[in-house]
Amino acid sequence: MLHILEAELAGQLAAGEAIDRPAAVARELVENALDAEARRITIALQAGGTSWLRVSDDGHGIAADEIALVGTRHVTSKLASLDELATIATHGFRGVALASIAAVARLTISSRTADAAAATELRLANGTLQHRRLHAAPIGTSVTVEQLFYTMPQRRRFLHGIRAEAAAVIAIATHYALIAPHVAFSVIVDGCSALATSGCGQLRAALAAIYGAAVASAMIDVAHDQRAAPGAPRIHGLLAPPGHSRRGRDGIHLALNRHAIAARGRLPAVVEAAYRGMLAPGDHPIAVLNVDMDPADVDRFGRTMHRSVRPQAESFVSAALFRASRAALTGRRGVALPLNPAPTAPADMPTTTGWRPIGQYAGRYIIAEAEQGLAIIDQRGADIAGRRMALLAQWRAGGPLRRSLEPALAVPLDDRRLARLLAQAAALQRWGFTFDEFGPGIIVRHAPAELTALQIGQVLATLGTAAEATADVIALAIAEATAVAVGIALSPGEIGAIVARWCLSQDHDEPGTGPAIAWLTPAHIATLMRHEEVHQHRAGMPPPQASA
Ligand code: ADP
Ligand code: MG
Repeated sequence: MLHILEAELAGQLAAGEAIDRPAAVARELVENALDAEARRITIALQAGGTSWLRVSDDGHGIAADEIALVGTRHVTSKLASLDELATIATHGFRGVALASIAAVARLTISSRTADAAAATELRLANGTLQHRRLHAAPIGTSVTVEQLFYTMPQRRRFLHGIRAEAAAVIAIATHYALIAPHVAFSVIVDGCSALATSGCGQLRAALAAIYGAAVASAMIDVAHDQRAAPGAPRIHGLLAPPGHSRRGRDGIHLALNRHAIAARGRLPAVVEAAYRGMLAPGDHPIAVLNVDMDPADVDRFGRTMHRSVRPQAESFVSAALFRASRAALTGRRGVALPLNPAPTAPADMPTTTGWRPIGQYAGRYIIAEAEQGLAIIDQRGADIAGRRMALLAQWRAGGPLRRSLEPALAVPLDDRRLARLLAQAAALQRWGFTFDEFGPGIIVRHAPAELTALQIGQVLATLGTAAEATADVIALAIAEATAVAVGIALSPGEIGAIVARWCLSQDHDEPGTGPAIAWLTPAHIATLMRHEEVHQHRAGMPPPQASA
């Protein structure tokens, strides 16, 4: 028999679908904080966020006379008419998140606007007001969600363990911390800090807080191609070079006009495709890319609470994303985008590397398979060639990330080297080196972030003998100082990274500058095998006397 569901039950079912785990709550509350122009967002949780989760922000707050409406379905301050939908820039606009959370959990909301003397706090349970009070609190909003799914106990069965739920919340915070580096995010799990970014606005700084300084400094800039057609999507951000990959796909952070793009979808796959041939099997890149495009070209109708934004002409955006990523990874500037969207599927994207690394021999050669046969590659030579090109690409993009040395590093130099280095100081500054004359040598105050103290000394001593410190000469000196030494055992990942980086540099290598390679061609191997066969055959033959 057909009947219409009671409003309360219908609301709970709809809410249960959208709010399926603590991370979904965190996402909605973080998006509200971002919409309120917060500069500091703190997420605290206990028991994976199922028993207690609080998101506090320093945004503009909710006026005391409006706060009572919160938790009512379709109450929003963001959208008033359908026309606005095309240009709306906020994350939310439907007014369903807080109502949905209130339908499945106990919700306490406390908020204070700049012109209010105190904060107003409301506590809701089952969608009804339990109490309201004034209390002292800073400007901003704090939403506490307790006993998630107490109205729908069956939903709890679908939750993963406490650790997995906490990890999912951290993943959400990570994502937004990278998309919005001007906001300081912190996550506190069971009283311990699990994530903290400074909110200084520098994407590399946010990356360093999450993935470590080594990854952050190695990231390659993806800059918008100035020659791209007007109206083409603008892609900018950072990509990790092949050596800094991850075992999971969770390192790909994409945003469309600063809104998160779902981690599993076509666009993240396109970024992975740009790495084709550069990563070992099972490895995934780290990437933070933002696509900026006309808001009118973004599908906002399709955006439900638990799904993220999508561009309307997805293949157009895919092609732009692929080109920009590939160009950055190969150190090349992108080609101008066609005015008409070219439907380029990731499947028919070019691969530049036909190399399959197999392993290492004698601590100094990389064995790899290529079309021509089996290659025995001078490992250090390949590493130097790849690093040199990657460094030149970084230099063209404004120079490698530098770090300040504290304490400053004294490098003793003879008079001749000292004079040369002082003459090259300006050129070296673009590479991140700053130094002053000091004693019989120099004192180095800044250096490229990836160099150790020993390597800084090596590079500067080498450059002190160079006639002229051109970009090429400096890149080579840094590459030589950082490349893997002979006799070091490498992991498959490291071998893959060296080969991938070197492959990218091949197009640019002047003849005679790459590593030494010895080839075993299929014909060569066949000849050797035949030789061996004949040999074995003879050896296996009974001696003539015995057969007689
Ligand atoms: P939506 O974000 O789609 O408008 P929500 O249910 O998420 O719907 O929020 C309802 C309204 O409550 C928002 O439109 C906003 O006016 C207000 N609000 C919610 N969270 C905050 C916050 N952290 N700071 C300021 N206002 C908020
Ligand atoms: Mg919202």
